[in-house]
Amino acid sequence: MAAGKVYIVGAGPGDPELITVKAMRRIQAADVILYDRLASEELLGYAREDAELVYCGKAPGMHAMPQQLINEALVRYALDGKTVVRLKGGDPFVFGRGGEEALKLADWGIDYEIIPGITSAIGAAAAAGIPVTHREYAASFACVTGSRCHGDKTPIRWDLLAHGVDTLAIYMGVSQLPAIREELLKHGKSASTPVALIERGTTSRQRTITGTLADIHTLAAAKKLSNPALIIIGEVVRVRDRLLQAEQRAISMIG
Ligand code: SAH
Repeated sequence: MAAGKVYIVGAGPGDPELITVKAMRRIQAADVILYDRLASEELLGYAREDAELVYCGKAPGMHAMPQQLINEALVRYALDGKTVVRLKGGDPFVFGRGGEEALKLADWGIDYEIIPGITSAIGAAAAAGIPVTHREYAASFACVTGSRCHGDKTPIRWDLLAHGVDTLAIYMGVSQLPAIREELLKHGKSASTPVALIERGTTSRQRTITGTLADIHTLAAAKKLSNPALIIIGEVVRVRDRLLQAEQRAISMIG
């Protein structure tokens, strides 16, 4: 039997409508869908009725299915001749381990395709009224992981990030927020730098908390910030405040 094909697909940041047309078409055609916790379950409703749906989600701190097993499952299904969708939250190549899966498939000579998605930092920031770049505030932004796991080989250069990049979008950083803030302050980032925390960005349950590097850890604890959430650090957070103020002014003029 001819080997199948694996599509490593980005599901977008949370709102199921933010998936690409190409990704949606692959979901509709798939024999098997291996999906993560952050890929909206609503999207599975578009799968064929006879499609096999396999949950591979990882809750924070736990691995529902070890990466090695996921890699092996992708290979096995493809060798069985199946059309496989590997559905991941956001973009598969941004802290999504899509690269590891692609390498495994390439090793086996299996046909695969990467379908990008809107990464959660971009999606959530936009939905919270925060442009990651802005001519008045930021000429650069970086996507940074806030958590390191056993086996990670690249250090996070907080010393350079504190000064070299204008907007920091930090993934997987909720539990590390006090330590991240301390690192940035230690390396000379101003305590008055604005920070936004965006929980469940782009979904109907999105919540945004804003503060500064001086108080954001206290606010996060008081408001019981939970995962998934992004930390956006930089002057661009001021645009959100300005948008909200302008909206208030407009409402009071009408009212
Ligand atoms: N590949 C994904 C990221 C996976 S890492 C992407 O491109 O978005 C998981 C982290 O992504 C979470 O810890 C959180 O920081 C972030 N994240 C994912 N979905 C999110 C959402 N809807 N709102 C806020 N943060 C989200």
